[in-house]
Amino acid sequence: MTARKKAAEAKAIEQPLEEKAAEKAEESAAGKPEEPAAAATAEEKAGFPAEAAEAGEPKPEPKSTFQWNARTRLGSDVAAGKYASIDEVLEKGELILEPEIVDAMIPDLRQEVVYIGGSPGKGGGIRRTATKMTARMHKSGRRFKLSALSIVGNGNGILGVGMATSKEHRSAMEKSVKNAKLGIIRVRRGCGSWECGCGGSHSIPFKTSGKNGSVRVTLLPAPKGTGLVGSEETRKMLGLAGIHDVWVKTMGQTATRNNLVMAIFDALKNLNRGKGDL
Ligand SMILES: [Zn+2]
Repeated sequence: MTARKKAAEAKAIEQPLEEKAAEKAEESAAGKPEEPAAAATAEEKAGFPAEAAEAGEPKPEPKSTFQWNARTRLGSDVAAGKYASIDEVLEKGELILEPEIVDAMIPDLRQEVVYIGGSPGKGGGIRRTATKMTARMHKSGRRFKLSALSIVGNGNGILGVGMATSKEHRSAMEKSVKNAKLGIIRVRRGCGSWECGCGGSHSIPFKTSGKNGSVRVTLLPAPKGTGLVGSEETRKMLGLAGIHDVWVKTMGQTATRNNLVMAIFDALKNLNRGKGDL
């Protein structure tokens, strides 16, 4: 290339300006036909991938119907597209036994981990972990088990909480997510705040309470802009449920985070006991 360039420069120096311009025009003219040819070759080259892309385009469509080996009646019905939304499934009171049903019907499902575990650290601190390790005594030493707590939700009224134990960290986490998907509920939302009265769905329709272990929880409707007034785990959970403004009152040993989370889940479940639309 450098040699060619040098030669061209030498030519340019030798040749008069007019000739140089003519040469340039010729070059550009010669260059133009080359471009379509190159494009053609590119198309030829891209022919196979382009076809693959075309074949790949319908792929998202089956994703929405989400094919899997359904093993229950509800699973095969969902796979066949007999249900328009997860609300229909929940309204019928169907028992969800396959997590794929939830995956198929709620593509924007998000998941959060509750840090239920921890170990005492230096200076009174604590290192929090996603799984809680418990031990039982055996004649040959300690046998450990790990438990995990996960929350799933779509940020629009669907929430599930699942707990699971396993010998390993990873399988405990996976099992807890699966259990959370199987136990999803529809969270009733509204605006029960007398200070707001907007009639929207940013809070809860009325005061509700729930309990688990020693933990007692009361959720109070709050006006727009209040935010989620509660602990980190509480906010995580209510955010996934799609509630934006609420006051949380707790009593009992709330440091036991799995009991706190289950108490709030209980309170949200109790919202569905009242009359009215979701
Ligand atoms: Zn309001």
